[in-house]
Amino acid sequence: MSDPEPRPITRRRLLGQGMGALSAVALATPPPVRAEAPRYAGALFDAHLHYNDEAWLGPHTLDDVLGRLQRAGVRGAVANSRPNAGTHALAGPQAQAAGIAVVPFVRLYRQRADYEGWPDDDSIRRMVLDELAVGTPAGPFRGLGEFHLYDSRRADAPVPRALMQLAQARGLAVLAHCDDEAVQRLMAHAPQTRLIWAHTGIGGVPLARVRALLERHPTLLGELSYRPGLTEGDGRLAAEWRALLAEQPQRFLLGSDTWVNARWSAYETLMDEVRRWLADLPPAAAQRIAWDNAAALFGLAAPG
Ligand SMILES: [Zn+2]
Repeated sequence: MSDPEPRPITRRRLLGQGMGALSAVALATPPPVRAEAPRYAGALFDAHLHYNDEAWLGPHTLDDVLGRLQRAGVRGAVANSRPNAGTHALAGPQAQAAGIAVVPFVRLYRQRADYEGWPDDDSIRRMVLDELAVGTPAGPFRGLGEFHLYDSRRADAPVPRALMQLAQARGLAVLAHCDDEAVQRLMAHAPQTRLIWAHTGIGGVPLARVRALLERHPTLLGELSYRPGLTEGDGRLAAEWRALLAEQPQRFLLGSDTWVNARWSAYETLMDEVRRWLADLPPAAAQRIAWDNAAALFGLAAPG
């Protein structure tokens, strides 16, 4: 059996079907980058972080994750967690005392079943409104997501449409895991919304298409975790990515995507790999991607 039309490769598909040998651990821990290669040394902002219940109920206590962020030189992070209790815990006084600026986003999923059903489930929209009304110990929520659209046509369903319009009206950012077609559909609902495209397309959409979308949608930003083709075997930036990031550093953010505990246990290694490829860019471009774009987006002070 083959699909009637091409579909983006998602982590879920990679893990769930046909490629069983690729375990979550294998995806979470790429081969080590040579230690002697140069590293970007400035502060990092992690724009794609989850503190899900399997992390905080398991080995990754608040002390553990804050220690990892500190050791990795991460001085700020978007927090979004299933359920939102993880974000409430992270966006508290302990992170502030650790010198980490936490930018809370509302997660749409209460449980795993919501990953598929949310676009037509109005109770999700109402939950988002309730969360926004309450806020977090660190202040109001600043964004919505991460949400997933495994079928791009679902971007036109009632809840994604309403949430894009809500984000635009309230000045919230949106973190969306979807393909290039869904980006178009989401932006059509609310063209001024600041949309952070998780992984800049995990299916590896060609860079010409990425460039065209960035040009067409001035408030679109690309987040670079799990981006196929970003780096080569030695951890250096691929040439076409180096060109794009050097040309348009104001349009990209970096992230860890701690979607499973294996990503948390590899956190410092993941951020070291990010520092490795950032070092391939002109320093000013690296600093924009590492920190300045997030600081501008969320009004963060310079890290002390
Ligand atoms: Zn994610």
